[in-house]
Amino acid sequence: MSDDNRSRLVPEVDFDQDGKQCGFIRLFHSVHASAYGFIPIPIVVIRNGPGPTALFISGNHGDEYEGQVALCNLARSLDPMCIQGRVILLPMANYPACIAGRRTSPLDDGNLNRSFPGDPEGTVTQQIAFFIEHVLLPKADIVCDLHSGGSSLLYVPTALMKRPDDVRRFESQLAALRAFGAPLAYITSGGHGTGAANTLSSAAIRQGPLALGTELGGSGTLTPVALQIAERGLRNILVHLGILPASMKIDSEATRILDVGGSDYFVYAPDGGIFEPVVELGETVKADQLAGRIHFPETPWAPATEARFARDGFVLCKRTPGRTLRGDCLFHLGTDRVP
Ligand SMILES: [Zn+2]
Repeated sequence: MSDDNRSRLVPEVDFDQDGKQCGFIRLFHSVHASAYGFIPIPIVVIRNGPGPTALFISGNHGDEYEGQVALCNLARSLDPMCIQGRVILLPMANYPACIAGRRTSPLDDGNLNRSFPGDPEGTVTQQIAFFIEHVLLPKADIVCDLHSGGSSLLYVPTALMKRPDDVRRFESQLAALRAFGAPLAYITSGGHGTGAANTLSSAAIRQGPLALGTELGGSGTLTPVALQIAERGLRNILVHLGILPASMKIDSEATRILDVGGSDYFVYAPDGGIFEPVVELGETVKADQLAGRIHFPETPWAPATEARFARDGFVLCKRTPGRTLRGDCLFHLGTDRVP
């Protein structure tokens, strides 16, 4: 666990004060239109006495909306008198990206979830990453980082965790993943474009708290079903930690847990053109089955290129925009865990 106080960000809240505090983390950013101004990253701290700390983050990518709405609802509804311990909400982690409705920041093109451990003297996105890793994560017993497919992907709503090397940590995270109560969840081994040591889940392994994530939907919008899964999951995590009483648990079916492994789980566009998916989310597919075609309307007489699945699996995620470049992710699969 790091005790690094080099962050230049200034929180308006006192993390050790009881009650509900709402304010901003000030990230000073001197630019042409605002000489002494700061970027106001919203934060809510809800605390009642000693106890565990849950850190809930959304807006790590600014074009993923389900988590941002779930944390707005939780910020308003959670009564400090009903909890024991502390809940920290960071609904717009990459604030400039969230305001722009983009995956990455318009200020420095930074992808926050590829920026850890960050840099206290770096770009805006690197400074945010540094603050989360070195100030927020060391305070937390668990961090939930709420993602979805964003602008380019659509997921079956899932909770997820990255597979840690440590067996005890694996079992603790798996228990939290089941407690979240999503109908579907997956365990990822990381890599293959999904980030490695520079993601928030890797930062959590370095700093100590258990880490869960989600992929709640995407396509640049949100659905009632995905929002309900997120809100139930967050509440159940608070019960799992003992921050909320057991009577507040929201019952759910047992979670079906899949594995997401290496490159054979992913299908990438073999050419640039228009993507025609030929399977849907939630389908079970076989190795060598046709996944989609890439069409070339500039030369309509040219045959479409085929993209095929490399292995059997369950379709967790698909690309949504039609216009596609070679190398774009078209699908990824999950497989049922072997007990
Ligand atoms: Zn994301």
